[in-house]
Amino acid sequence: MDDHAAPGGQALSPILPGAAGTEPAAAPDAEEAARIEAGRRLFAHECRFLRGAVSLDSLPPADLPELAFSGRSNVGKSSLINGLTGRSNLARTSNTPGRTQELNFFDLAGRLTLVDLPGYGFASAPKTEVARWTRLVEGFLRGRSVLRRVVVLVDSRHGLKVSDREMMDMLDRAAVVYQVVLTKADKITPTQLAATQEQVVAEIARRGAAHPCVIATSSQTGLGLADLRAELATLARGESAT
Ligand code: GDP
Repeated sequence: MDDHAAPGGQALSPILPGAAGTEPAAAPDAEEAARIEAGRRLFAHECRFLRGAVSLDSLPPADLPELAFSGRSNVGKSSLINGLTGRSNLARTSNTPGRTQELNFFDLAGRLTLVDLPGYGFASAPKTEVARWTRLVEGFLRGRSVLRRVVVLVDSRHGLKVSDREMMDMLDRAAVVYQVVLTKADKITPTQLAATQEQVVAEIARRGAAHPCVIATSSQTGLGLADLRAELATLARGESAT
């Protein structure tokens, strides 16, 4: 819970003029450009499918920082993972409700593991399926010590729904930091997008484990992807000095 203080898209610390006898502090533009470049560099590496886990017994070793993606089915999660990593079919896109519930793990440059969590939010799903999803996802969230953050994807046309609030309740209980990212921003006007963003920021401000910064994205136009890569790169293991 130690990374609340560094919302993406904002300067990480006040920029002060250099004190006498020291180098001047980096200009905000230079700092932002360096952040974006670090994100671009990390996500330019090959992202490799590691394993699909249908139960908590078959998770890969927990030896790298992890970043998980969650959201209602059809929110655009697979498209976003593919967009971030520059791959067209790394995460399989699908409109099929009730697709196999599994956690999919991807290795990014040996520095960060991306985890694609099964989607949620089918009102008509059988109770046994919901119970299975809850056991798998809640067990993962509570037990995964290397999990640094969960990206909660929300369709920018709809804003937060009951099932998103339930997901955030689970994350608050598990004390895992999460960050809301709006998807499909190209489908609404900039004014509508700003309104949704404002509503979400206001609502999550009351939540214990929510990161305050909400990033709007479109996998179709690429909006917000560079900023999101920059933000997520701060969670990765440092580059080796070689
Ligand atoms: P998932 O079920 O959450 O993995 O969602 P998908 O990535 O499969 O996307 C669901 C549908 O939304 C697909 O038809 C995608 O083409 C579409 N989609 C996803 N992201 C975007 C986006 O940013 N803009 C638009 N216009 N459509 C999108």
